[in-house]
Amino acid sequence: MSETIPKTAEEPKRSKVEVLKEGSRQLRGSIAEELSSDKGEFGGDAETLLKMHGIYQQDDRDQRKAKNPDGTPKPRVHTFMVRTRIPGGRVSAKQFLAHLGLCEQYANGTLRVTTRQAFQLHGVLKTNLKASIRGINDMLLTTLAACGDVERNVMSCPAPIHNNPVRDEMQRMADAIAEHLKPRTTAYHEIWLTDDEGNKTNVAEFTPVEEPIYGTVYLPRKFKTGIALPEDNCIDIYTQDMGFLAIVENNKIVGYNVLAGGGMGTTPSADKTFPAIAKEICYVTPDQVLAVGEAIVKVQRDFGNRADRKIARLKYLIHNWGVPAFKAKVEEYFGAPLPDPKPVAVTGVDDHIGWHEQGDGKWFLGINIECGRIQDVGDVRLKTGLRKLLTEFPHETRLTALQSVILCDVLPEQKQRVNAILKEHGIKQAEDLTLIRRYSIACPAFPTCGLAVTESERALPGVIDELEQELAKLGLLADRISVHMTGCPNGCARPYTPDIGFVGKTLGKYTIFVGGNAEGTRLGFILKDLVVREDLVPALVPVLTHYKSARKAGEAFGDFCARVGKEQLVELLA
Ligand code: SF4
Repeated sequence: MSETIPKTAEEPKRSKVEVLKEGSRQLRGSIAEELSSDKGEFGGDAETLLKMHGIYQQDDRDQRKAKNPDGTPKPRVHTFMVRTRIPGGRVSAKQFLAHLGLCEQYANGTLRVTTRQAFQLHGVLKTNLKASIRGINDMLLTTLAACGDVERNVMSCPAPIHNNPVRDEMQRMADAIAEHLKPRTTAYHEIWLTDDEGNKTNVAEFTPVEEPIYGTVYLPRKFKTGIALPEDNCIDIYTQDMGFLAIVENNKIVGYNVLAGGGMGTTPSADKTFPAIAKEICYVTPDQVLAVGEAIVKVQRDFGNRADRKIARLKYLIHNWGVPAFKAKVEEYFGAPLPDPKPVAVTGVDDHIGWHEQGDGKWFLGINIECGRIQDVGDVRLKTGLRKLLTEFPHETRLTALQSVILCDVLPEQKQRVNAILKEHGIKQAEDLTLIRRYSIACPAFPTCGLAVTESERALPGVIDELEQELAKLGLLADRISVHMTGCPNGCARPYTPDIGFVGKTLGKYTIFVGGNAEGTRLGFILKDLVVREDLVPALVPVLTHYKSARKAGEAFGDFCARVGKEQLVELLA
């Protein structure tokens, strides 16, 4: 690791995406022109820029090998994923119901709660993109900067606990960070929210606006921020590029430990890439959060790698410089020395499922959404049930980082009716669910993600079924074991920090990670590589059996694996 850093930002040798961003007239590119063409898809450059508008161009991977009756391949049908940015996952009933309507009117009839407390529509046709985005903006939400090389959705613990101001303050801070770090370009408004005629005129008469945070080329890579509490790291603060861990005294946030350099994505074939958990950088008072956050973003803007996108995340900058040099540069940008972090550690996590008192006489209910997909399948009619619930009780909701939904502000006398609606629609509540299912999440992978090499969302429920059976045999069903699955090593569902991570490595084969924990404070290690779907659970059975017989009192599965170590566990499998 080098401790030397450049005194000033050097002119980077730039990747193709950097050149594209700079020449894009503040993220316009050819999006408007291509949007009005008859083609069902966008060309490569516009496709890249679309991400900054919260849109991914995709195609149905299941259909790629489809053939016409004469044996010729069918042309790919492109559809789009549209992501709504929702700081802290706070959504009104009206906004939630509008998304349910949009997914039926313009998408594939399902709505997805993401691992970053956002909503995603999938399967949107190009002809419906504008209407979808207008529908979202009509609800005073946006897709701008939900993806792309900017600050993405700012996460915060969503539990609506009102008997102290801590979580309200965290939500307020999440909103403030999101507002402060949002791109200022007017491209989004011109392209998606004006009529066609105005759109053309505005794009032609492009006048740049000041981008005070991002400059002309935005960030070298995506940037993720989260706010957590030491006793409840439900948003996985160590996986974020930038994290604020709240320090609470007498029911009041007195400051935050600032963390930086977390990130999950890796390319197994490239040694220069790796997943990382965030490092502690400094302590800030609440009124310094925006300025220090801005300084960190600007350091990454000016010194992050713009030549090689594989190593462009903030974690690589911090790895190369070391924490002291990085902190010194942040202080230079901030304009003052910053104290060291307080000696505070993450100690807990809560998925917020089930009934909980809010502290103001009302209750909130966490409703588990398996893999985040809101749809009606067989007897489990999540979409219809949530629609009925929110129509009858138009309360605020929150989206959790474990892809679930919280219904807020339920009066004691309303609880029975809420329970009845869920039961009517086959929606399981906390007492019907194992902890392993509640603490499991998955990325979408097939059929929509172009990077997937294995199943994830469609595979995980079956894997959990099998794990439940094995845990029941071992008498471990009451244990909390967190399981995250992704369809490729990019790690969108944070698979390197839970008790068990399944990561798509190559076509149809996974890497199994163990040794992390539900609190998300540690990276796991590889237990077994290149495992086909059917062998995932059998591969874990010897380790679970050993855990059952050799664990210490109260020791969680991931902690046990970390204590016993990779060598012994791998030997056990051999
Ligand atoms: Fe796609 Fe990979 Fe992200 Fe899953 S982890 S959504 S497969 S990029």
